[in-house]
Amino acid sequence: VPGRSFALARAPIASTGRLQEAPAHQQLLKRHNLALVLGHLAGAPNLSRAQLAAGTGLTKATVSTLVCALVAAGLVVERDPARGLIGRPGSPLALNAEGPAGLGIEINVDYVSACVVDLTGTVRLRDKIVSDNRLVAPEAVLDRAAQAATRLVAKAEAAGLSVCGLGVGVPGLVDFDGVLHRAPNLRDWEGIAAAEVLRDLIDRPLRSVYCDNEANLAALGERWFALSEDTADFVFVSGEIGVGAGIVIGGQLFRGVRGLGGELGHVTVDPNGPRCSCGSRGCLEAVAGREALLASAGLALGGAGARGGTEELVSRAIVGEPETLVALNNAARAIGVALAAFLNVLDLPTVVLGGFYAELAPWLIGPVTDELAVRVVNSSWSSTEVVASSLGDQASVKGAAGITVRRIIDDPAELFPEVLGKT
Ligand SMILES: [Zn+2]
Repeated sequence: VPGRSFALARAPIASTGRLQEAPAHQQLLKRHNLALVLGHLAGAPNLSRAQLAAGTGLTKATVSTLVCALVAAGLVVERDPARGLIGRPGSPLALNAEGPAGLGIEINVDYVSACVVDLTGTVRLRDKIVSDNRLVAPEAVLDRAAQAATRLVAKAEAAGLSVCGLGVGVPGLVDFDGVLHRAPNLRDWEGIAAAEVLRDLIDRPLRSVYCDNEANLAALGERWFALSEDTADFVFVSGEIGVGAGIVIGGQLFRGVRGLGGELGHVTVDPNGPRCSCGSRGCLEAVAGREALLASAGLALGGAGARGGTEELVSRAIVGEPETLVALNNAARAIGVALAAFLNVLDLPTVVLGGFYAELAPWLIGPVTDELAVRVVNSSWSSTEVVASSLGDQASVKGAAGITVRRIIDDPAELFPEVLGKT
């Protein structure tokens, strides 16, 4: 479905009015009901047709017709009925774990990750290549990512999966057309539509491609793979060499009017502070990004070696090394100052610390919470919860792979128009 694929995060389902081939009321009704049935099965697998009818409020006949279309499209499977004592039980239905799957790729400053998620949301395959992408031309990084992706797609196909969509996360400002406008920590990436380039390199018939900022995708990964269903409003802070934020409001990603919001890393925390890669001074990431934090703790390793630096930082913090604790406390205060500006404007109840901030959470959560208590004006009667991501550096690549799966479940007819049948 070329041309539609990037509108995901701002286009709610079932109100798009895109179908123009048939009487709108019939088509839209069927489309809505297909999403209703599939969504029900995603929330509660192994329902019979009768249970689906009871749960959705549809008639059994309608459920049977819709299920038939979903089975034919490979989205739903019918399992063998359990042998009951009385009568013949209905066959349990479930999402097809051996059917369509989403491929996710995250290109970050010092690594490339890829993973495949099946329709039930299970991560089936993953890979990670550590390399300093600042020193390499974008073409070479994309080629490396495509090779990793091609290997995973081949393994997925061997396991009976069909990779039908691609999500790509990149460390920069991405517009609604999936074009990267600025990546302060990478060189020469401006103007690149990474997902489209990767689609060509992977050379598979994909039904959807999507590209977004890695922090936005990490926020979605957190929403879909880690947080409870009722945590629908939060800001995800992505701490890497760059620092970003993904804002989720009412369960939906908020990307700003042009798709370029969430740049927490470039909120000023010290007007006279160190130079930032963006050209400004005293931005949060120049003070508390991974390399800045390691340097202030006396652990400046730089480049891909900074991963090892994080481990060293954690082990020094565990034994209470004073210089490390001071550096962590200063970083946490800076994160709190930047977040307070965010939260005073946006009024969000939960902060999720992700990326390498998640590993450092035992030393960050206390001082960040203290700063918010002082600086967020509503904190005296409505405190903000600060928690650590449980996905670590997997949040973004899972969100990237999950995009395709969520799209299918939220509106199966969008990527699988055959479920609507002939009109
Ligand atoms: Zn900056």
